[in-house]
Amino acid sequence: MDLLDLLSACIEQGRTAIAPALVDADERQRLEQLHRVGALVETQSRVVICPRCEAHSVRIMTVGSGFCVDCGPVSLSPKDVLRLTPDGDWLRRRIAQALHLTKDQAWMLVPERVWRLGDVGRGGGRHRVLYGQKLTDSMVQRMLLAMWQTHIGRTRAVMVTTSPTDRVFLPGADVRLVPLGAAFRVRGTGLIADEAVWAGALGASPRVDQIRIGPFGPGYRDVLLPGESVPIPLTPAQSALLRMLWERRGQPMHREMLMAQAKLDLDKPVQAFPRPKYPEANRAYRLLVRSNRQGEYWWAEECAESTSDGY
Ligand SMILES: [Zn+2]
Repeated sequence: MDLLDLLSACIEQGRTAIAPALVDADERQRLEQLHRVGALVETQSRVVICPRCEAHSVRIMTVGSGFCVDCGPVSLSPKDVLRLTPDGDWLRRRIAQALHLTKDQAWMLVPERVWRLGDVGRGGGRHRVLYGQKLTDSMVQRMLLAMWQTHIGRTRAVMVTTSPTDRVFLPGADVRLVPLGAAFRVRGTGLIADEAVWAGALGASPRVDQIRIGPFGPGYRDVLLPGESVPIPLTPAQSALLRMLWERRGQPMHREMLMAQAKLDLDKPVQAFPRPKYPEANRAYRLLVRSNRQGEYWWAEECAESTSDGY
């Protein structure tokens, strides 16, 4: 299961005290990754399953110790008591950032269920972006429909949701439901929008071109250098190479793997950027890409767009 699908499942199941120590290694790894990026935060639990007999619940007495009815006093490691809970603010902020909605203020439409995050596009291509969770409750669906006219009106809407979309019925509302796991991917400590999914969700609107992906234009067809205002066009090969490195966010990638993933057959990435033919793309490559003598390449992190809180 993808990271964001796992996060969706946690939110939908209302899991607020997730114990990484009690799940299999595979899921634990993904929970820890969600913890690292900030999607899950640590929370206090007063009762945990006894780590000795794994049969009874143990009330935590002091830091590091608890009492089990069968085993008596048991010591508890930080891992035994670690509980994680989804951070809704993190998720809504990162969605807004990925869609460049950061100037808008998130607005709760249905308490703890539906938020209005902002608008993308302008004029006829404008769409209102919503985020919804635990929507399969028909009561929530009715509440949302009741306020649709006043809060959304005739503006077309896209709702990112953690709920199974085939169980959400909003008759009469002009809304496209997009599963969280399809709409975004985790990158670094933020999210990036899946361009194809968003192009589809926003329809054939000319304003789809507003969605840039980090420093790249739609389809990774151009790149904008820091402090510049005119994007530099890229060939498909140039775009594939830069995209691979950008997605690794500064982590080195060996030449062979880079070529294989970009589906190119070159000795060196720079060969895709010949200066006489593509002086601007060559300049971009030299600014954005670093390498070492071991044949490793990476994205120059100082050029990466800031994903820190700009909300
Ligand atoms: Zn016990």
